[in-house]
Amino acid sequence: MTEAAIYSHAIAQPASRPSLSARTKIVATVGPACSSPEQLAALVAAGVDIFRLNMAHGQLDEHTETVRAIRQLSDRTRPLAILVDLAGPKIRLGQLVQDPLLCRRDVELEFVRGETAQGPLQLVSNYDRLVDELDIGDPVMLADGTVRLMVTQKTADSVKCRVLNAGDVRSRQGINLPGAKLSVPALTDHDRKCARWAAEQQADLISLSFVRSPRDVDSLRQLLKQHGSQATVIAKIEKQEALQELEQIVRAADGIMVARGDLGVEVDVAHIPLFQKQIIRVCNQWQRPVIVATQMLDSMQRLPRPTRAEVTDVANAILDGADACMLSGETAIGLYPVESVETMTRILLAIEPSLVRAASPSAPPSDDPNSALTHPVTQSVVFGAGRISDHLKAKLVVMVTRTGATALIASNYRSQIPTLGVSDDEATLRRMCLYWGITPLRGAPCADVRKLLAYIDQWGRQQQILKPRDWVVLVTGSGLEPGAHNVLFVHEVPGTKS
Ligand code: PGA
Ligand code: MN
Repeated sequence: MTEAAIYSHAIAQPASRPSLSARTKIVATVGPACSSPEQLAALVAAGVDIFRLNMAHGQLDEHTETVRAIRQLSDRTRPLAILVDLAGPKIRLGQLVQDPLLCRRDVELEFVRGETAQGPLQLVSNYDRLVDELDIGDPVMLADGTVRLMVTQKTADSVKCRVLNAGDVRSRQGINLPGAKLSVPALTDHDRKCARWAAEQQADLISLSFVRSPRDVDSLRQLLKQHGSQATVIAKIEKQEALQELEQIVRAADGIMVARGDLGVEVDVAHIPLFQKQIIRVCNQWQRPVIVATQMLDSMQRLPRPTRAEVTDVANAILDGADACMLSGETAIGLYPVESVETMTRILLAIEPSLVRAASPSAPPSDDPNSALTHPVTQSVVFGAGRISDHLKAKLVVMVTRTGATALIASNYRSQIPTLGVSDDEATLRRMCLYWGITPLRGAPCADVRKLLAYIDQWGRQQQILKPRDWVVLVTGSGLEPGAHNVLFVHEVPGTKS
């Protein structure tokens, strides 16, 4: 198939049929399995809204290429967002003398200072203070938690650990220290470099790994501001410490990721289901979009069909209230990236009709101007629009928005009715890629309500969403009337029923 043919295929599929694509957003991690323009286009046709570039892997010039390919694809299809994921203060092993190293049960390994290990049982890391900050009895997890060690001896310059759970470790794999409070800064030099690059690339969303406090979120936001970026800031919840300050972190961030991969090593994995529900509840309450990540369809890295447990996991995430589901290895390095996205779309479409509409805005109190996203009047009007559209059985809801905030409130209502987010700002359209149930639509004339309604009528008929006499509910800003916050229109599609 030629490249042009593949792109036109992408345009003809769910890209231009928003009513057929899932309302829950899909984040796909880019990697060698999907980074060509053709493969990216196939993922978009299967339902991807946001591409994640993982800064823990690859070089910046490779990522620059990927950004270019995604932007071109977005221009040809529909708004697509780019999420730049910063590695944060992840502690990693240095070079092993024997790589991979088989760690047998009861073997003693020794962490030493510096950058080079002297023998096969010596380990070094990228964190100078590791030897100082570990204490006897502390757990140390390697290889994504499969290899478990415990500190048994400590001297001035080394720490000995016994292997409790055996397994293979490789050079530069992550080290997790469950429960430990480390003195590492929230942003490493590498993160700063990547954040600057992300700002240059006008990344839409930027996430930070291993967030421990709201201050970490603030420092990323400040750094981005210095580089002229207004990207959506996502805090990844993957440490015990973050759970202790969850509400403050949610309020400091623009969005949250339930990063179950590392969280499941940092805390007992048996607690992950309830932590996930708790994190999502707090996010819903503060109207911050929340992404559930890692191992959602893990077995599809190797097989074309998911397990029952994985299907149930995706379903439960959205029943919990997640705005987006993420694929990691499934799309980055798996054998079935497109099938993984198609499977996710199918599960979302099957489950979404069962979601319960919110009874009222979960708006934070209006006396908290820093955490409330919009004025309480906007909250009420947007929720009113949801109720009205349900009552009238409207066929379409339209949110006209400058920053996307109105659409985010609408998203919180969990309407079953197709909902457009229209804006004349491309950055706003891309930001809305994360908002549950909001289809960003570009090209609509936002400044003139008459023209806008005519445009929507025509668009809706083309998409076979609207026919004469159908109702459309539209919410726009206060341009018409000084002192008003928002205006709500109920519009009847003109023409006679055939
Ligand atoms: P990662 O984050 O894939 O960047 O580690 C997600 C997670 O830990 O779940
Ligand atoms: Mn992680």
